[in-house]
Amino acid sequence: MFSLKITEVNAVSLVKYFIPSHWGRLLVRIKTDEGYVGYGESGEDSRWGVGVTLIDNWAKQVVGSDPMETKKILRRIWYSMKHFGRDGITMGTLSAVDFALLDVKGKIMDVPTCDLIGGKFRDRIRVYCDTSHAEPLEDPESHVRVVRDALKRGFDSVKFDLDTGFRGREMLGWEPYNQHLRNDELKWMVKVTDAIRNAVGDDIELMVDLHGVYNTTSAIKIAKALEPFNLTWLEEPVPAENVDAMREVKRSTFTPICAGENLHSAWRFRRLLEKQAVSIIEPDLNKCGGILEGQNIAHMADLQYIPVAPHNTSTPVGTLAACHFCASIPNFVSLEWHGLREAAEWSRLVKWDGSIIKDGYIMIPDKPGLGFELNEEACLEANPEAEVLFT
Ligand code: MG
Repeated sequence: MFSLKITEVNAVSLVKYFIPSHWGRLLVRIKTDEGYVGYGESGEDSRWGVGVTLIDNWAKQVVGSDPMETKKILRRIWYSMKHFGRDGITMGTLSAVDFALLDVKGKIMDVPTCDLIGGKFRDRIRVYCDTSHAEPLEDPESHVRVVRDALKRGFDSVKFDLDTGFRGREMLGWEPYNQHLRNDELKWMVKVTDAIRNAVGDDIELMVDLHGVYNTTSAIKIAKALEPFNLTWLEEPVPAENVDAMREVKRSTFTPICAGENLHSAWRFRRLLEKQAVSIIEPDLNKCGGILEGQNIAHMADLQYIPVAPHNTSTPVGTLAACHFCASIPNFVSLEWHGLREAAEWSRLVKWDGSIIKDGYIMIPDKPGLGFELNEEACLEANPEAEVLFT
């Protein structure tokens, strides 16, 4: 039916996404001999130019291939990754290739990507808002303000941080290295959460992120102290690496435990899920290997009756790719959206009619592929170090 060949695969790193303080991203572009173009984005790990080197290296696995053979191309790259390790930056970069392949294939077949991967369970994707930093940090009211700001923009599900990061813990006089929770620190956490729950009422879903900085005993104390506030989840109460510790926290509390944003590939999720060490998983589609690997992970979770709420700190490119995945799995709960500051810039990075997020939801585009057009000129403007976007 189709006899196309992939003719180019290129990448650009450090797209600063219009905001100088933004982490920057790796974008990947795939072209075919008949002029079809697909785009992808990798997770935050790939931003230092390593991703560009990997794409240059993988080009020989991709160029000349039939763009219909998505899984075969991804598997060839997977085999070639054995010496690099199938983790971190390599899986993040592979995610970008997966997105670009599914984008270009959808365009060739003239169907949205979600129709290529099993079809939609839902037409719109519920998005929760990850709030930005509250200042002054020590004042519970400043945390209430950032949560209220998210609600004003139509979200009914909000996440805030109760670990204060290295700088915050030092500022507040707490040791940032020993993973130990002090009594005054726990008191502050309870005060902040109480102020937010009182301000927003019972119906709003609240999530708390701890970014894996506490030891098991400290994490259990936090999870139990937060039980009265009916959190939707407590995220990464202990570091990601020790599944037994995560399971111990989960079994000690009624507060649902969520983890997975720093696990790459279905292999890394296997023990976490088989041991029922979490209540919810949060794979990052830009890091875990892409949409197809994300479906493998979601299916494994479904076998354990564990729902999926993907982590997401992406530009609209990665976010829209994640939306097609979220539409395609039964056990989806909500997708993260990172920060309110970038909202106005969405329409510049991708060409889009109207606003992408409305009342806390993203509608799945009905256009072919991932459903957007990348504004390459705007990307170039945002990346002053580059003379051309894709080299
Ligand atoms: Mg997190």
